[in-house]
Amino acid sequence: MRDVPEPDIGPNDLLIRIRKTAICGTDIHIYNWDEWARATIPVPMVVGHEFVGEVAAMGAAVRGFSVGDRVSGEGHVTCGHCRNCRAGRRHLCRNTVGVGVNRAGAFAEYLSLPAFNAFLMPDDISDDLAAIFDPFGNAVHTALSYDLVGEDVLITGAGPIGCMAAAICQHAGARHVVVTDVNDFRLDLARKLGASLAINVTRTTPADVMSQLGMTEGYDVGLEMSGNGEAFEQMLEVMNHGGRVAILGIPPSDTVIDWNQVIFKGLTLKGIYGREMFETWYKMAALLQGGLDLSPILTHGYGIDDFQAGFDMMRSGQSGKVVLDWS
Ligand code: NAD
Ligand code: ZN
Repeated sequence: MRDVPEPDIGPNDLLIRIRKTAICGTDIHIYNWDEWARATIPVPMVVGHEFVGEVAAMGAAVRGFSVGDRVSGEGHVTCGHCRNCRAGRRHLCRNTVGVGVNRAGAFAEYLSLPAFNAFLMPDDISDDLAAIFDPFGNAVHTALSYDLVGEDVLITGAGPIGCMAAAICQHAGARHVVVTDVNDFRLDLARKLGASLAINVTRTTPADVMSQLGMTEGYDVGLEMSGNGEAFEQMLEVMNHGGRVAILGIPPSDTVIDWNQVIFKGLTLKGIYGREMFETWYKMAALLQGGLDLSPILTHGYGIDDFQAGFDMMRSGQSGKVVLDWS
């Protein structure tokens, strides 16, 4: 923690006074200063990208916001001129720059962000939930990739995003939502968020529990949210023919799968990066307003002076989302 200059804003930017931030798995990679972080993060730089705050100042060209507005924001700053950007598919921009990864982030009293990236937060959404819209958006984008109504869903990985996805799938009308992990604390959390079954794969498998749920063929929709190659392999084995799989988790680059599972079952695989701009953001707000309850995922909150305790808790694996208060 150190003093840095207040960030500058350009004509199209908002200066956001941060109220709350949340710690992402990416921030833990940076904290651990692993190989990926060393190769990616320009230092010194303010990190962090999960936040809620209020507009403190606006560039001269900004329209649609006022000083005092409560906002969160999309952490992928897109170029605006590539083919996908021009077609409105900003999440597929080939020139994305990450807030708190490639450019200054939100773990500070002030953040400078293009106004285009800001999302005006409805009043009835709490600061704590507003601060986790970024990972919530990963869960919504992945879970709503396919029709879930009346389907049986397998989620591999009960991290914060897998747990939120379980709640979204139930809310959206799935029949059964089975979540796997190797961490019992997180499996408990998945149950609190509405998983039909949360199973520890060191003791049981997604195939074992099918008969208990009255399933005879296989899972219809798979959401890979562990980044673990074995979990992905296990998922492919229990998908029904014609099943659809969305992959959010980031596996090691040398991960091997049995392609016969994909080909002979006619599976559809879709990679997910970030959130759809900005459809996912509107869906998130509307899902919460429509009764989606994510409150169990908010397991820990600290004042920013206790940031060390927050990072330690996040690194322990014995938490859901950890929120830090800057006020
Ligand atoms: P996380 O690391 O907190 O959760 C992953 C979970 O997978 C952990 O609880 C871990 O115990 C569990 N796991 C490990 N081995 C397993 C196995 N064999 N079977 C089942 N579960 C197993 O991560 P998170 O923050 O919830 O994010 C989920 C994944 O999505 C991570 O891989 C993360 O890097 C990735 N991610 C991708 C994007 C994107 O845009 N594509 C964005 C955010 C996060
Ligand atoms: Zn672009």
